[in-house]
Amino acid sequence: MRMQRRDFLLTLGAASAAAALPGCATPGGGSQGKVVVVGGGYGGATAAKYLRMWSGGKVDVTLVEPATEFISCPLSNLVIGGSKQLADVTVSYDNLSRRHGIRLVRDTASAVDPDRRVVRLAGGGELPYDRLILSPGIEFMWDRVPGLGTAEAQDRILHSWKAGPQTVALRRQLEAMPDGGVYALSIPLAPYRCPPGPYERACQVAWYFKRAKPRSKVLILDANGDVTSKPGLFKKAWAEEYKGIVEYLPNHVLTGVDARTLTAKLETHDDVRAAVLNVVPPQRANAIARAAGVVTANDRWCDVDFLTFESVKVKNVHVLGDAIQVAPGMPKSGHMANQHAKVCAAAVVALLAGQAPSPTPVVTNTCYSFITDTDVVHVASVHQYDAEKKTLVAVPGAGGISPAMSAVEGVYALAWAKNIWADTLG
Ligand SMILES: Cc1cc2nc3c(=O)[nH]c(=O)nc-3n(C[C@H](O)[C@H](O)[C@H](O)COP(=O)(O)OP(=O)(O)OC[C@H]3O[C@@H](n4cnc5c(N)ncnc54)[C@H](O)[C@@H]3O)c2cc1C
Repeated sequence: MRMQRRDFLLTLGAASAAAALPGCATPGGGSQGKVVVVGGGYGGATAAKYLRMWSGGKVDVTLVEPATEFISCPLSNLVIGGSKQLADVTVSYDNLSRRHGIRLVRDTASAVDPDRRVVRLAGGGELPYDRLILSPGIEFMWDRVPGLGTAEAQDRILHSWKAGPQTVALRRQLEAMPDGGVYALSIPLAPYRCPPGPYERACQVAWYFKRAKPRSKVLILDANGDVTSKPGLFKKAWAEEYKGIVEYLPNHVLTGVDARTLTAKLETHDDVRAAVLNVVPPQRANAIARAAGVVTANDRWCDVDFLTFESVKVKNVHVLGDAIQVAPGMPKSGHMANQHAKVCAAAVVALLAGQAPSPTPVVTNTCYSFITDTDVVHVASVHQYDAEKKTLVAVPGAGGISPAMSAVEGVYALAWAKNIWADTLG
């Protein structure tokens, strides 16, 4: 995307050759600089891998990630619906070290000293860098949801907005719920991680209820004025496929919860009491972004230069994925994080070699949403760098949305997941 096709193939060839030579793909084998990547999610893992590939093994890459395995948020709503298991959305990190010579550090970055160019680790020790890439994802703004600040409350009212133990725990709550109960899902005002994600979740819970608990209801309490992604397709699914099960309530801003009674308190509407209350809280860039001093937008997100994804504030620190202040029309998605990572990796390889980064990056996005266990809809977009506006802008006429849900798109969606996991971690 950022190199000529010929250059890309040459570099890719060099990377494969280097990987085959003992020593060349091992940690410490780099000679063109040190990059530390914080966060092994969709953005960070992709950046780490492509830095190694596109530098032909010359850039020394260390990836800091506390998790022992990669657990995907995409497809995790199917675990909540019951048609997939957590193991189906879990991928090993092993290839990153074995095939690509990335040094994996199982730890949490706790501070950044941009003057000395070091990252401090919670477990003690420091990692020096020439360039630092942060892709730490999101943290929740618990102070915005009074009543949900304690560990006990958070055990009863789950977010399940980071795939892992909470994904399984929400599934257990739904299984334990008696037929005839209400599952209420609170959605924060945009921007939040994965615009269509909550609506897909509502569909997956409804899919489960339709088969196992047909007298139960899904109540969507949306702080937004309308469905924020693919509105026509989701509303059609609720009116037809899930008629009598899903109720959609826009402009329902959560002002607090009572965790004991599983009650949602709402700005201008009556309280809602649920059998299972699932709250997706408002979000901001994860803590390390704040510690690194790169949070610049609304005290929540990180502004970046879209040619390199370098922070507009702190030199030599790049930010990817959900943590950034997005360009207009750009979703906070795994696909986008993967694309940010490639633009950034190519730019960092160029900069470390004393070259200018490409002036014409293009990124793409596709978000698939499962309506049933097999039938899917998608939204796609293409975003091109505009030198005058200094941002990525959506290309008119490129992309679009599905005409209707279909099983063919279900096949594409599963292939998308398999491919992006291979691209990110393979
Ligand atoms: C239910 C759901 C469904 C979704 N479905 C889709 C979909 O179908 N398609 C799609 O494209 N996107 C989807 N998304 C969105 C997608 O998951 C995110 O946009 C994507 O994960 C963002 O990537 P990231 O690299 O910014 O963050 P993440 O993937 O969250 O990675 C961040 C990583 O950083 C680590 N980390 C954080 N702080 C530190 C630290 N201080 N030190 C070291 N490591 C740290 C974390 O452990 C984590 O592994 C979905 C999200 C949800 C919740």
